[in-house]
Amino acid sequence: MQLQRRLRANGFRIRLDGRYGGSTVKAVRRAQRKLGLRVTGVATPALQRRLGVPAPIAAGSAVSEYLVTFPMPKSVEYRYFNDYFAPRSTGMHGATDILAPHGAPILSATHGTVMDLRRTDSGLGGLYVYIRDPGGTWYYYAHLSSIPRSLQPGDTVWPGRVIGRNGSSGNASYGAPHLHLEIMLGKRGGPNTNPFQHLVAVDPKPRSQTEI
Ligand SMILES: [Zn+2]
Repeated sequence: MQLQRRLRANGFRIRLDGRYGGSTVKAVRRAQRKLGLRVTGVATPALQRRLGVPAPIAAGSAVSEYLVTFPMPKSVEYRYFNDYFAPRSTGMHGATDILAPHGAPILSATHGTVMDLRRTDSGLGGLYVYIRDPGGTWYYYAHLSSIPRSLQPGDTVWPGRVIGRNGSSGNASYGAPHLHLEIMLGKRGGPNTNPFQHLVAVDPKPRSQTEI
């Protein structure tokens, strides 16, 4: 209803019925077109911000443009916060770190293709997996402790497929085990976007448990 009210207040014709039905989808598409956003009919956090819809967003109730599922199972005791652009020895942190016990399953958060992976502990990322989704966005999962032998470059993955185990390889070796999740737009190493709000959007746990 808030979304519908804000759409109407911004001049888009819409029925105020509290249902995300055809009339709302049409108004959302018109708003996206007018605001120069990708026209999907899905009320993304970006659109809601532009329309002035009051934030947030209970855990798991929002829609992410990038993530389909959370990259760890609900049973794992994970914690994360908005550490995007926090200063690090290697520069600004263009990712979100999710702290979790060593060995926790790491799941693909999207559909996609495995573009690259490394099973040996070297470099900054240690053991890592790169996945590209059908829209061309790249996902970098780093500091893993292991990667299933069956996972190979070129493989198709889907939301929830196990792509590794949590760890502290690479330059995380002196810190707590965590997943470094980076979302790169357009190409590997391309400009990244803050994964935090996308993780919140697909997080299956209430916000209080994730200490955000
Ligand atoms: Zn990190």
